Amino acid sequence: MLLVMQKGTTKDQVRAVVAAVEKKGYTARPIPGGDRVSIGILYNKGSVDAGHFLGLDGVKEVIPVTKPYKLVSREFRQENSQITIGDAVFGNGTMPVIAGPCAVESQKQVLGIAASVKKAGATLFRGGAFKPRTSPYSFQGLGKKGLEYLALVKEETGLPVVTEVMDIETFDMVEGFVDVIQIGTRNMQNFSLLRRAGQSEKPVILKRGMSAMLEEWLMAAEYIMEEGNTNVILCERGIRTFVRHSRNTLDLSVVPAVKKESHLPVIVDPSHATGVRDQVVWLAYASAALGVDGLMVEVHDHPEAALSDGAQSLYPDQFAQVMEKMRAIRTIIEAP
Ligand code: PEP
Ligand code: MN
Repeated sequence: MLLVMQKGTTKDQVRAVVAAVEKKGYTARPIPGGDRVSIGILYNKGSVDAGHFLGLDGVKEVIPVTKPYKLVSREFRQENSQITIGDAVFGNGTMPVIAGPCAVESQKQVLGIAASVKKAGATLFRGGAFKPRTSPYSFQGLGKKGLEYLALVKEETGLPVVTEVMDIETFDMVEGFVDVIQIGTRNMQNFSLLRRAGQSEKPVILKRGMSAMLEEWLMAAEYIMEEGNTNVILCERGIRTFVRHSRNTLDLSVVPAVKKESHLPVIVDPSHATGVRDQVVWLAYASAALGVDGLMVEVHDHPEAALSDGAQSLYPDQFAQVMEKMRAIRTIIEAP
């Protein structure tokens, strides 16, 4: 249930409605909007008596929420959520690009790649310090050293840095070093990790589980928001299908579907979606044409020697060209 307040409602009126909701034994969540506040009612078992709340001072409308997800839903918040990180804004019609290597490999590697992606127009830097690898024998990431190199990238270039957090044990450490926390596809339904991310002050990029339905993905985001963190960016990174010509299948149609259901920004990662450099390029253009709220792209200065995901990493020059063409595409495509 959602209580929509009248325009120009005072803080005291909102407080009084919240108190009235809580007196009934429910939880109230004020949601600031463009020109009016709404108050979500959570944890109601069964239906709530709309008439009771309609009579309260300042309440304009009472809307039943029909979806299982609440805080992430468009029913709760009509306007797109905008999330500002450094110079980038996700959700305002622009298309910030997060770029960098799959894994942080050395100080020289990240500083070099960061300088080139920044020059090409990327506004955030990515790099994994703790890597979720299929094989325990593959490179697992530099761990804390990798986080230190990311902090150095931020210091030297000013680019906010994004990295994946794999577990609760390392959460505090990762959170202390980076600007944005990424939850990877393999952890999309790690509910305790989602809750911990929800207690963080840092924005969270929530990748779609490789077999997740739209509803499951949004429910995962709900876990984060329910704990109080409203800065959630959804990232489509390809799903498992029967094909062999690419690593995953980029589900572009999920983007407009999510935007219809949710106010959260949605970005696309064409790198993990395809696993193949040449496909990344075209799907980056397709994503730009779709009006996505941003992209995440893997870039490596020596992909042939990369310790992970070399085959899908763009060369820095190639990335610069892709950025230029995406900008051109965006001049004729408006975000939905
Ligand atoms: C990554 O971005 O480094 C990564 C491992 O992505 P995903 O969780 O989408 O596989
Ligand atoms: Mn990768």
